[in-house]
Amino acid sequence: MIRLKKRWQGREDLKTKVRKITLLLEKQYGVPRKKGSGDLLDILIETILSQNTNDRNRDEAFRRLTTRFPRWEDILKTKTKSIVSAIRPGGLAERKARRIREILNWIKEREGRLSLSFLKTMGSEEIEKTMGALKGVGPKTVHCLLLFGLGRDAFPVDTHILRIGKRLGFIPEGMNAEKAHTWMDPLISKGKSLSLHLNLIQFGRSVCKAKNPQCGVCFLTNECIQFRSFL
Ligand code: SF4
Repeated sequence: MIRLKKRWQGREDLKTKVRKITLLLEKQYGVPRKKGSGDLLDILIETILSQNTNDRNRDEAFRRLTTRFPRWEDILKTKTKSIVSAIRPGGLAERKARRIREILNWIKEREGRLSLSFLKTMGSEEIEKTMGALKGVGPKTVHCLLLFGLGRDAFPVDTHILRIGKRLGFIPEGMNAEKAHTWMDPLISKGKSLSLHLNLIQFGRSVCKAKNPQCGVCFLTNECIQFRSFL
């Protein structure tokens, strides 16, 4: 009973910590405005292309893919090697090309057209089950669909957010990104997933960098459990 109480208090403390960090980030960077509702299929393909690469390479791969194949239908009519060549800058091109084709085929068979609008009528858990069962669609991809495509409360965890979360102490040290999705969702205040996600990305790019964190100018030192070890 005592142990249960301690665990519960631990989660409540973490919620408070995450709420405080969300507010401090908003004070520094503002409250990010909601982008227009992105096309669900674009978001899905973009997120698959983002696996194991940086934003610049992902954007270049997506730009080349959509320039060469202006309609997603065109991808189903072409050879896999043409898709591979288009998305080469994003890395793991063979694997990603195969996955993209498989997923487009699955949508076409299921819906008779290439659209993910059927997700709009599903609950988030059902979406996680349905989309998460597809090869190449992990928790981050599903959470991107939920947050950016459907405006739901869902928090995608990429390598930058995982790193910052561990430094600040709201993600346990040994946890991987996949598990961190289930861990984080209940810690974030309702309606704050987008704000925390986008502001943490900005914070990671400008202050809490992977190799050279700028602790000297950091405004979250009071919340950081690794602060002293970096001095
Ligand atoms: S104090 Fe340093 S390690 Fe901690 S959050 Fe700030 S920049 Fe990152």
